[in-house]
Amino acid sequence: MASRVLAATSSPYSRAAFAAVGGAIVIWGMINAVSAVGAMNAGLQPPAPAPVVTPVTAPEPPPPPPPAFVFDAPLPGHVVNSPFGLRQMPWEENGRLHEGVDIAAPAGAPVHVATDGVIMRSGVSSTYGRFVEVGHKDGFHTFYAHLGRDAGLKRGTFVKRGTTVAYVGSSGRSTGSHLHFELRNKAGKPLNPALFMGKTFAEKDDLPLKAAARVGRKVRLAQVSRWPEGVKAPGKMAANGEGGVTRVKGGRVRVRINVVDG
Ligand SMILES: [Zn+2]
Repeated sequence: MASRVLAATSSPYSRAAFAAVGGAIVIWGMINAVSAVGAMNAGLQPPAPAPVVTPVTAPEPPPPPPPAFVFDAPLPGHVVNSPFGLRQMPWEENGRLHEGVDIAAPAGAPVHVATDGVIMRSGVSSTYGRFVEVGHKDGFHTFYAHLGRDAGLKRGTFVKRGTTVAYVGSSGRSTGSHLHFELRNKAGKPLNPALFMGKTFAEKDDLPLKAAARVGRKVRLAQVSRWPEGVKAPGKMAANGEGGVTRVKGGRVRVRINVVDG
């Protein structure tokens, strides 16, 4: 019985089948080996060069255009002690428009032109004392008054913003050493300089022209340390020797506004 089984398993067909199967295994194994070598070779290939990454840098933004208007304070570091608006001096019967700002400063302090311009005129007036007027682009004018002296710049001289055009004094009708500073538009209308001093405006449309031309109805009674020479009190004299001044009632009075000689 056992021998018959052996005979059966050792038949030539069986061996051939075995060899064929074995061959197929060997061939399959070789294919696998070839694939593996190929894969290994592929792995040995130098890596593809990394793509050149150009750093993405935003193009340099163009420098912003310079602001269309730059206004400096004519006396940097000194404050306005009498603002633009209706004001009544103690020797006046009516209030009137103070067409600029007063900036107290010691006599001799240099007065800087607020923005680039051209000297238009300089001279002496009985009320403003010694003054200098400068013209600027778009018809603006600045006016510097009660000066001790001007800087001797001739009419037509171009002055860069910050140039010293004069020196503080107390000439004309003045109650102490200070600068009276005005800014006017091209029509000659006074603007509130406080809305321009120390400010820059990118475009012409940014200028606060309407707000600066507005005059509140409130009249401030000016406080003065001394009366200027040649000024007489209107009306009858009070017991203390001061003038009979028409006082402002409730902060509002009907006023006659003189547009010049403030
Ligand atoms: Zn003034």
